[in-house]
Amino acid sequence: MSTVRDDAFYKSIPKVELHVHLDGAFQWKTLMAMAKERNIPMPDNEQDCLDQVSLSSPTKSLADFISKFDTGNNIMGGSSKGLQLASYDFCKASHEAGVLYSELKFSPAFCKHSEVAPDNVTLTYNEVMDAILTGIHRGEKEFGIRVNLIIVIMINMPETANDLVDLALRYRDKGVVAMDIAGDELIPMDQRHISAIKRAKQSGLHITLHAGEAGPATNVERAIEVLGAERIGHGYRVLEDEKIYAMAKEKVHFEVCPCSSIYTGSNRLSDHALMRFSQDDVNFSINSDDPSIMRKTLIDDYKMACNELRLNYKQIRKSVFNGVEATFLSDKEKTLLRDTVIKKFQELEAKYKIDDS
Ligand SMILES: [Zn+2]
Repeated sequence: MSTVRDDAFYKSIPKVELHVHLDGAFQWKTLMAMAKERNIPMPDNEQDCLDQVSLSSPTKSLADFISKFDTGNNIMGGSSKGLQLASYDFCKASHEAGVLYSELKFSPAFCKHSEVAPDNVTLTYNEVMDAILTGIHRGEKEFGIRVNLIIVIMINMPETANDLVDLALRYRDKGVVAMDIAGDELIPMDQRHISAIKRAKQSGLHITLHAGEAGPATNVERAIEVLGAERIGHGYRVLEDEKIYAMAKEKVHFEVCPCSSIYTGSNRLSDHALMRFSQDDVNFSINSDDPSIMRKTLIDDYKMACNELRLNYKQIRKSVFNGVEATFLSDKEKTLLRDTVIKKFQELEAKYKIDDS
């Protein structure tokens, strides 16, 4: 942006978020309360608790980053109440960041059970879904936002892949719109992942896949050409292969996550993939991925994109409209969302006297 803007400006940008994980968005105070209720031991002072569930600075690798999720998943896993509260918290935090519509990713396999809770409860997949949907519906009503769900298969849990596709199909009419695969991208993909994603696609579910974050450009190629992904989570390393980049640019939307890409070590500010994507007018959106793990919000991602990665106002606005078009909403719902986003941008431009003609 040419002018330095205040926080209210970044908050007022109407946002559509396509890449954010429930277990990366747990609010630490809710985690502490749930840990206490379930008799799960946590450090005595607040700072030590916060350090156990989140990072104060970037890590060296994606695997290090992912290890920060364990405590939160063990506090919320196996607790319908915890999952409800976490989903409600997510709606509240999204609303506070100026989000109008979100597609929330989560891994039901992590939500079923806790490795450490003395109550030793294991939820069924249906109980997990019902708890999350209860929290989401309460949050949607209270904060006036919309949230749909993306079911994630973990890369290290191929044995869950088939059941998770069945689960997604059972909840297709209740808010599940797509499947994803996430986790340490350097772990090889199993045949069970591949056949599950192909079945999901054939059954009419949408597909978005994490690829090209820590793994090579060929992972992006496989996600698009073999698995039929319509969107790619991250995808930065596609830039290492011009041929794959040219193909991907034509075919998919990139869910870019500025802050997390720095925290996981998959990008540097000096030559961030987002700068090349914006120069080349690639179809991308701006997302937070795991805001609580980094003690950030989606507003910080917009600030980084504008202030450190030098995207201008037009590029930011275009990324929001790209996000609208890349949602997995029906055409009718997409039209309603597009109209709201147009109106909100008009209000923002009038308030901040942005002449964009
Ligand atoms: Zn992700």
